[in-house]
Amino acid sequence: MTVNTWIKKDLRYLWHPYTQMKDCRGTPPILIERAKGMKLYDSDGNHYFDTISSWWCNIHGHNRPEINRAIREQLKLFEHVMFAGFTHRNAITLAERLVSIAPESLSRVFFSDNGSTAVETALKMSFQYWRNIGKRGKKSFVHLDYAYHGDTLGAMSVGGVDLFGGLFKPLFFHSFKVPTPYCYRCPAGKYRYPACRLECVKPLEKTLEDNHGRIAAMIIEPLVLAAGGMIIYPAEYLKKARELTDRYGVHLIVDEVATGFGRTGRMFASEHARIEPDFLCLSKGITSGYLPLGATLTTEKVYRAFYDDYFKKKTFYHGHTYTANPISCSAAIASLDIFEKEKALKRAGKVMAYFHKRLEDFRGIDIVGDVRYIGMIGALELVKDRSTKRPFGLKERKGMEVYREALKRGLLLRPLGNIIYFYLPLCAEKNELEYILDQTYDIIWNSTK
Ligand SMILES: *Cc1c(COP(=O)(O)O)cnc(C)c1O
Repeated sequence: MTVNTWIKKDLRYLWHPYTQMKDCRGTPPILIERAKGMKLYDSDGNHYFDTISSWWCNIHGHNRPEINRAIREQLKLFEHVMFAGFTHRNAITLAERLVSIAPESLSRVFFSDNGSTAVETALKMSFQYWRNIGKRGKKSFVHLDYAYHGDTLGAMSVGGVDLFGGLFKPLFFHSFKVPTPYCYRCPAGKYRYPACRLECVKPLEKTLEDNHGRIAAMIIEPLVLAAGGMIIYPAEYLKKARELTDRYGVHLIVDEVATGFGRTGRMFASEHARIEPDFLCLSKGITSGYLPLGATLTTEKVYRAFYDDYFKKKTFYHGHTYTANPISCSAAIASLDIFEKEKALKRAGKVMAYFHKRLEDFRGIDIVGDVRYIGMIGALELVKDRSTKRPFGLKERKGMEVYREALKRGLLLRPLGNIIYFYLPLCAEKNELEYILDQTYDIIWNSTK
């Protein structure tokens, strides 16, 4: 079958996620045949640098022999087993290792199979915790504007991205939305951190003060609101959120689905603020982008509130068919081994310094309103008018224009609206980055003409 026939069949039978299928007439999906390191190879022999790590999940590069081997070893034994009444070595090993690298407060691991389910698990556990200890009024949540926690209805109820979630609002449960520490578009109208003294935390304080009796948990993406536009905020805000939730007896759920496993330069982004959350949600990078797996970590205190005689009805009735899939767990263990053996974080640290320095150059382009970065994440916010920060409109599709041009130059540079960003794997080499940033600079520069 020719490539064209494959694509025709794709458009005949499939419906792609986050895609206006009408766009596929002009920009059809690209048929990928193989991948290695940072590169994806298509059926015509072209390659594309995977600058967004296949939707933020790849960590050590594509097609890693060590992870391939671990999966093959598990396949010699068995593929899956139900996780109630049965267990297996991979899940036990992985749970122990996750607890050993996670913030100290966390000692229990509940597995699921993706990021949304890791979040749903945390929300339901928090809600039920308060029921189990007799505080039945605590059934609301707090989330940030621009937050993203997944696409299931529960996760969307605590989401703040109107473009994705606005339509579904009538189906959501109640959650208080507080402003985001989005420094470029400061919600408190200030100019600079730390001179602003973190004014933007006040609405959170007020919300907790007035409603803590009704609030089970606050959920937050630590340091980076990824899908909301790669908004990077000061660690101090996260620290304050922990202080305030502690003060008012509210759980803190830290959603590290996107930031976990080294992306921000630390194993977990929470480490930048040295906080101890009540729940930690993991997925995406956990198997280094190989297989679906989710994990929700929590404290012994939460665990104990569910531990009782069966008839007391404190059991956590929640689970997913592919919970703790042994093949997924084997990939996750192999990925953690690579972190240790290759000192992947330390090595990537050098590349990060170069990456950040090069990103600063983009400030010289007129339509680049803001440049922000942390670890292997970097974002350029394109604006129509720099002085007023007016964004490009939905019809202009500036991001799409950059995306199409980037493909021609061998880059996968999928934007979030007007935000062009990089979400690099830890294996990225300096010379690869050099090419990626040179090309991106050129594309954005040319698009101003
Ligand atoms: C992607 C993402 C999710 C949802 O993960 P899925 O595996 O796509 O369901 C949840 N939280 C954050 C922060 C994410 O970036």
